[in-house]
Amino acid sequence: MPDNMSRPLIRDRGGSRRLEASMSDPSAPVVGILGTGDFSRSLARRLVASGYQVVVGSRNPKRFEALFPEEAEVTSQIEAASQADLVFVAVHPEHHSTLVELKLTLAGKTLVDVSNGLRINQDGPSNAELLADLFPESPVVKGFNTISAWALQMGPWDGSRQIFLCSDCSKSKNMMTQLCRKMGFIPVDMGSLSSSLEVENLPLHLFPSWRIPVLCTASLFVFFYLYNFVRDVLHPFVTKKESVFYKMPIDTVNVTLPCVALVMLSLVYLPGLCAAFLQLWWGTKYKRFPVYLDQWLTRRKQFGLCSFLCAALHAVYSLCLPMRKSAKIKLTNAAFDQVKQGVEARWVDEDVWRMELYLSAGIMALGLLSLLAVTSLPSVANAINWREFSFVQSTLGYCALSMATLHTLLFGWDRAFDPKQYRFYTPPTFLLVVILPVTILLCRVSLLVPCLAGRLRRIRRGWEKNRHIRFNLQDDGRHNGLEDMSHV
Ligand code: NAP
Repeated sequence: MPDNMSRPLIRDRGGSRRLEASMSDPSAPVVGILGTGDFSRSLARRLVASGYQVVVGSRNPKRFEALFPEEAEVTSQIEAASQADLVFVAVHPEHHSTLVELKLTLAGKTLVDVSNGLRINQDGPSNAELLADLFPESPVVKGFNTISAWALQMGPWDGSRQIFLCSDCSKSKNMMTQLCRKMGFIPVDMGSLSSSLEVENLPLHLFPSWRIPVLCTASLFVFFYLYNFVRDVLHPFVTKKESVFYKMPIDTVNVTLPCVALVMLSLVYLPGLCAAFLQLWWGTKYKRFPVYLDQWLTRRKQFGLCSFLCAALHAVYSLCLPMRKSAKIKLTNAAFDQVKQGVEARWVDEDVWRMELYLSAGIMALGLLSLLAVTSLPSVANAINWREFSFVQSTLGYCALSMATLHTLLFGWDRAFDPKQYRFYTPPTFLLVVILPVTILLCRVSLLVPCLAGRLRRIRRGWEKNRHIRFNLQDDGRHNGLEDMSHV
């Protein structure tokens, strides 16, 4: 990000006009921006592209005029403040006090505080509350501080789409909510201005979006590790007094990692399916998902990357298996035994085929996962269009899930039917692990059924169940009183 930010965000005035055609809506409020820094320039560009009239207030308008799109007017601070209906304060909070001379001009106009602190502030007051104290006649809304100038310029499809808003004035907050929606972002109402401290602290947290995926990965790892430990290490010790505790650092970890990888990969696709089924159930796409589902949907990338990490580690561990002393000794002993007994190693076609297919499916799954991981990098994602991105993340993603599931099924082969596999009455790990991905793949296939697929497609193009009117045709003997439905 620092490298990106050091580059000028808008290079020439003509370019932006060619890039994004702007159609100013005369009924839309005139948006003022105080300050001509990185944030102001990106915001101006996005507002112009969203159809707003923009007027930028600067201490030195002539100097910075060329950095803004042609459609935006760059003028003095007082002029911008008087023309605008709502004003973004894109000035560092330590300089807010220099704007007090605009107090009268700004009276009654909504001020949007986009500022961030330098470190997490636990005690308050927030920058927004201080701004509200400086301008008691102007309603203050806190917002847009969690979006970087770069993400603003790239548009809402890159990075977080949520904008957290809070204010004591509901009219101003509504105005900002509409503005966010028009810019393609998702406004999140955080309540009154007293929440502004929390909103200001949001961008200062360290990897907040990783907390749940990392916790999930860690919990799954602990669960499967203990499960495998009980079955593969403890069971032989208890039943046969056989000590195989040496398996704990490599063998047990290596069987645990693919379990975590597969479940985490399934968790990438589960929220999308939940969303699709909810939309089918509701018959509209214009109803907001529950917050947990919204957050889950936005964290699929992190879930996917955790899955990729586990899969990559599994591949490295597997490649290292033959290097272990224990493996070499076991192999040599087996060879000696065979020589002693005068038998040759048995070639069983079924075993050979199973192993070839098992390895091939695993390699394919890892290759596809690597592709997903690479395309989730913002720099790569920015270089491809939305259709390409969704093809890789969705179509190839499901291929990766199918391959990984096949890899696990081939590992299990017919052992699910072997009673010896149910140690301590527990099902074998591979059986436990495939339940979720198989369910997800079946649900995905069910969405391909034409009637469901067609309905979902219509819903996603804006069709709504409740926009049907129902009427009874008069019984003239031909319709038997059946209901007709018309789409309006
Ligand atoms: P910046 O590049 O340093 O720009 C700040 C602007 O403030 C200057 O260009 C200047 O414009 C104006 N300003 C007005 N009075 C000033 C004064 N007395 N002293 C210095 N400058 C004064 O900062 P920025 O990155 O755009 O950030 C602006 C605000 O947005 C900050 O509060 C920041 O926390 C917030 N924000 C930034 C980002 C980001 O990615 N950059 C993201 C979220 C929030 P004139 O000289 O034309 O008056």
